[in-house]
Amino acid sequence: MPQFHGNDVALSFLSRLTARGALPSTLLLSGPGGLGKALAGYSFVKSLVCEKNRGDGSSGDGELRGMEACGECANCRALETASSADFVGIRPKTAKLTLKHVREEHNSFREAYLYPAQLPYRFFLLEECHAMSEDLSNTMLKLLEEPPERTLFILVTDRPSLLLPTILSRSLKVRFLPESAESVQAWLAAQGASETSAANAAFFSQGRPGLAQTLLADDDLLPKLAGTMSRFAGMLKKRPEARGLVPLGEALLALADMVRDTLVRIEEGEVPDGYYLLPWRRPRPVVEGDDGAPAVTSERRRELSRDALQLVLDWLRLTLWRLEREGGPAYAARSAPLFDRATSFLDVNLREEQVVDYVLAKLPDARM
Ligand SMILES: [Zn+2]
Repeated sequence: MPQFHGNDVALSFLSRLTARGALPSTLLLSGPGGLGKALAGYSFVKSLVCEKNRGDGSSGDGELRGMEACGECANCRALETASSADFVGIRPKTAKLTLKHVREEHNSFREAYLYPAQLPYRFFLLEECHAMSEDLSNTMLKLLEEPPERTLFILVTDRPSLLLPTILSRSLKVRFLPESAESVQAWLAAQGASETSAANAAFFSQGRPGLAQTLLADDDLLPKLAGTMSRFAGMLKKRPEARGLVPLGEALLALADMVRDTLVRIEEGEVPDGYYLLPWRRPRPVVEGDDGAPAVTSERRRELSRDALQLVLDWLRLTLWRLEREGGPAYAARSAPLFDRATSFLDVNLREEQVVDYVLAKLPDARM
């Protein structure tokens, strides 16, 4: 499987499902962002439909077993080129995943009740499924109450608590967890990242391989992140002064902007060599004469802005913890006020974003 690292327990659970051939109607893949849950779900689908990976998976007569796929048979190619109607990958374009979006872009799940045309099953993979609007959740629930035959829903989320309890209870749950920073570092180094980059990406991603790769997608991002955090650490080590706060706050916001720009570029499909984009995340080819919607809507941009600010907050916390571990509780007491002020600086920005999202969500017509 390309670009995947860790979570052996979750993967072996999924590969046992493949081997058994008896599928649930709904799988819920949950855990923090940046672990590769959607990639694992997609690879699971691929291993289920790959023409060279059929059979019970234990006899070993085929060359592929478990969560593997040849990548060359008709089914593998149909998935990889996003040309099979039997697989639908859905990713929210705005803060909410609405019934309107699914209706317009994916024919409203109506096909869920049809027999698959090409693949052995029909699949709907919903990323960030906690963003489902109320009407979409209810549609989903109706589907799960009478699950269509030969259709599998794969729900992916880092916030399962936001799902309807009735959806949760009908799903087979698979949890994903972060790896140790050391193992992510070794994995990145094996892929050719320099020692410093691998160490920084592993540390700041907190053992999340996908996030580590995102941090590596822009050459300037990690050095800037490490630099800003060591400035922050330097201020914490000395006697924190109000004087240094404004430039620090500005540096933190500039870092958040840089992170957001990287996230936007990845969504627009501008990725470095070797960075694997899931087929449904790839930008659609531009049709001539069709202005269409931009790959990243302004609402989605705002969402990514918020994610970026959240990441910077996490990094501040991480830096503080590291200092405390190295310097003892004395640092904690001394640096708490500075930490609070730095985080409130970011919090204000974070909250502004949330207020705008809230208003947009409440007033759907305001988007027009
Ligand atoms: Zn195949």
